[in-house]
Amino acid sequence: MNILIADDTPSIRIFLQKVVRDTGHTVHAVCDGHEALSYMKNHDIDMIFMDIQMPDLNGIETAKIIREQQSEWMPIIFISATENDREFAEALSAGGDGILTKPLKPILVHAQIRAMQRIVDIQRKLHMMNSQLQSLSKTDVLTGIANRSGFYEVSERELKRCRREHKALSILMIDVDFFKQYNDNYGHLEGDHCLVTIAQALKNTLKRPLDYICRFGGEEFVVLLPMTDLEGARQIAQQLRQAVQSLEIPHKASTVSPFVSISIGAASNQDHINTFTINDLLTKADAALYTAKERGRNQIVAISPNKYGQFPTSSVQI
Ligand code: GH3
Ligand code: MG
Ligand code: MG
Repeated sequence: MNILIADDTPSIRIFLQKVVRDTGHTVHAVCDGHEALSYMKNHDIDMIFMDIQMPDLNGIETAKIIREQQSEWMPIIFISATENDREFAEALSAGGDGILTKPLKPILVHAQIRAMQRIVDIQRKLHMMNSQLQSLSKTDVLTGIANRSGFYEVSERELKRCRREHKALSILMIDVDFFKQYNDNYGHLEGDHCLVTIAQALKNTLKRPLDYICRFGGEEFVVLLPMTDLEGARQIAQQLRQAVQSLEIPHKASTVSPFVSISIGAASNQDHINTFTINDLLTKADAALYTAKERGRNQIVAISPNKYGQFPTSSVQI
């Protein structure tokens, strides 16, 4: 741990520094509350030993400020020259986690550090588990790519960035063709395996770091393409459709291809950078996907409003 000592008495600072250093932790020392606060602004401190009686800003006031300013808990152990119950109670209420009285005994200082280290370790473990949970909650369990919740977080951030830079953003909505029949013919487990293979192929085809794919639900995937206009989106959609065709996963019940195929709807905000929301783009991409299905599947339909706000569609028939 990085341990800070705040005490106005030089002999206590020197003594305590040595005692703390003997435990193998890193130690820093300051002379009063103000110095402690400014030191903590610029350094990561894991624990603090603080004299209650210090001139100007005393230990109790300093602890109150630390608790107000820092959302993260960090152990504060007070040092007191007097055995004053009322003052001890006040110090603990102000945010202290323990009190040592002068003259300081190394055995108690060491025990106090070990006790606080236990809690700091638990806190770190909780932080780690929390961030693992956060990332799991944004991951699709079956395919390992992002899920819908991850998509919403990233897409809102990217939309803002594109707006700031006056760049278009496009969305592809992808749906596996005749997937119900695939399950019916090959079984649900084989269906799951097929979705994993498709997800990986789609992900590996996206080369730019900002491009983002998620499993939107069932056999539907959504791709976010920041800094990309409709023509660019259409080209990437072509590569994705081709990548799935190249897998050559047999699908004897499909009427459009001997292999598993996908249909893609593409939408862009290129003429409406500041007004279209992510939901607007999803709705347009979904409409384009519907058209692709209607026109026979295994194809891409790109949709973009013209300057009159109409939505003429153009499709790439394969
Ligand atoms: P279309 O070409 O019009 O998209 O037809 P479709 O059969 O693909 O569409 P439909 O929406 O009728 O069926 C989707 C199927 O996808 C039905 C559902 O059982 C299957 N499905 C959805 N999620 C999963 C999954 O996680 N695993 C498996 N194996 N199948 C899934
Ligand atoms: Mg579907
Ligand atoms: Mg489908």
